[in-house]
Amino acid sequence: MKTTYLAGRAIIGTGERVVADAAVTVEAGRITYAGPRQGVGPEPGDLVQVGQHMTLLPGLIDSHVHLAFDASADPVAHLKAIGDEHLLLQMAMNAGRLIEAGITTARDCGGRGFLPVVIKESIELGTVRGPHLLISIRPITTTGGHCYFMGGRADTAEECRKISREHIEAGCDFLKVMATGGMMTKGSAPWFPQYDRRELEAITNEGKRVGKKTSAHCHGTEGIVNAVHAGVDTIEHCSWLMPKGYLYDEDTAGLIAEKGIYVCPTTTGHMAQWLQDPARSDMARVRLENLKKMLSIGVKLAAGTDAGINNVGFDSLVGGLEDLELTGMTRMQLVECATRQAAEALDVDKRTGTLEAGKEADVLAVAGNPLDRIGDLRNVALVLRSGQVMLDRRHQFATAAAAD
Ligand SMILES: [Zn+2]
Repeated sequence: MKTTYLAGRAIIGTGERVVADAAVTVEAGRITYAGPRQGVGPEPGDLVQVGQHMTLLPGLIDSHVHLAFDASADPVAHLKAIGDEHLLLQMAMNAGRLIEAGITTARDCGGRGFLPVVIKESIELGTVRGPHLLISIRPITTTGGHCYFMGGRADTAEECRKISREHIEAGCDFLKVMATGGMMTKGSAPWFPQYDRRELEAITNEGKRVGKKTSAHCHGTEGIVNAVHAGVDTIEHCSWLMPKGYLYDEDTAGLIAEKGIYVCPTTTGHMAQWLQDPARSDMARVRLENLKKMLSIGVKLAAGTDAGINNVGFDSLVGGLEDLELTGMTRMQLVECATRQAAEALDVDKRTGTLEAGKEADVLAVAGNPLDRIGDLRNVALVLRSGQVMLDRRHQFATAAAAD
């Protein structure tokens, strides 16, 4: 079956290209055409009028989520209180929420035990509604270290190598290591490293051996330095935190740019509000300044939210982009940061991230135009994952159609 979706415009996602009066043809789960309507061949298949007021674009990518956390005020307490059966159902619900936010690919940066494998397989089987999922299974951490309660403990280089192999055996898509402490774990200090370079290398080397990337959670500056030298592929948070205040290390930032390491800044849509809050405004200002500095030297960002942690819902990605807009990024850059560039960071750019013939039909339609207002990405009207309609809310935006 062949279907052609027609809309007022499409953001193709390769460079600056925006197509007016656009068409995207989908067949057998793949895109066979994306471009101006007049370029569709003589056999467009079924025609679906998405709407003149709609924008077609690649499905969004959230590069950092935790399906196992419930986004409440205390997700750790909740996680510790419930058993695996309940947790699985909650992870399934959270996966559905990602779809509702227009997210067709998500990277799960750590859950409890081997449950992420079950959710990923269930999504692929069609028993759970969710995005394409990339899983790390358990975050690798020290005994008592950040997120130790998920079960991924390793204290020596030898143990780091062993647990990486266990995860590879169980079917992880990438390895995730807590290179520093974190905010959510009692007794863990985010500004201190948890591993030295050699221990981190034990993980990255195992990943490289089988073509899997390593993602490093890093708040503290020393941990960032260790991770960069150990050859990680993405740095999460990248907060440049010290025991007191912040230290942006120019040499290390230069290496991040030079090595093409992606930074996932885990912005969540709170920045504008924090800038007004006397207790948080200094922190928010420094975070924005550090992001600007990294962008100015060519560090590539992959949009991600840390969805699931305290008060960060699974629909936070657009808010995170609004935060990034405060750095002066253009709206096209923001869209790419959550599509093509994120796909590159996650090593899935050959199959998703742009609207191009041959790629999987991960397609999103939103009412309005995100290039005029990034918040229009919240107007999720239609979501296709590999050509399958996962959500169709076009009727909710019919009023806007009438106004056009
Ligand atoms: Zn995280």
